[in-house]
Amino acid sequence: MFIEPSLGRKKHPERKGQIEMICGSMFSGKTEELIRRLNRAKIARLKVEIFKPSIDKRYADDQVVSHNDARIRSTPVNFAEDILLLSGDSDVIGIDEVQFFDSQIISVVQKLAAQGKRVIMAGLDMDFRGKPFEPVPQLMAISEYVSKVHAICMKCGDLASFSFRLSNEEDKVLLGEKESYEARCRKCFYEDLS
Ligand SMILES: [Zn+2]
Repeated sequence: MFIEPSLGRKKHPERKGQIEMICGSMFSGKTEELIRRLNRAKIARLKVEIFKPSIDKRYADDQVVSHNDARIRSTPVNFAEDILLLSGDSDVIGIDEVQFFDSQIISVVQKLAAQGKRVIMAGLDMDFRGKPFEPVPQLMAISEYVSKVHAICMKCGDLASFSFRLSNEEDKVLLGEKESYEARCRKCFYEDLS
């Protein structure tokens, strides 16, 4: 489990920014882990803001909701740059579904960290073909802390890090629910990949 090396309490005037990436497949608990860290920051009385790409319309519009229904208020934004404009004087910035932002997100999180903010992102690291899902690999590279979380393979019960798409839809941005995807281990993923 991730333990915060420093919660960056306001009493330290020399507070440094930091970038954290939580990545993994679908059903791996990325959003739950993001919400856990943000709630702990709130307990530490830090000012927290949460953003998500407005493309994610699966659930209530102004909330980040995980598969197990943990939820937290969030702001949908159209462009990565909007996060810079809306982050204000917050100490901690959470960004969910970060794989759906364009490459601008990289300079945006660098700027937030340069302002002394702690940035915590959650996102898919691979697409449904098992290919790296940009810009997440680049975000992992610039993060101080990267946590890869794992699902359980729905075919064999091993640890899973791939998202297998059950439909023949070719669009990379297919927002998945249980009926469209299965978490798979490497062997079960490549066995059935056409
Ligand atoms: Zn398996």
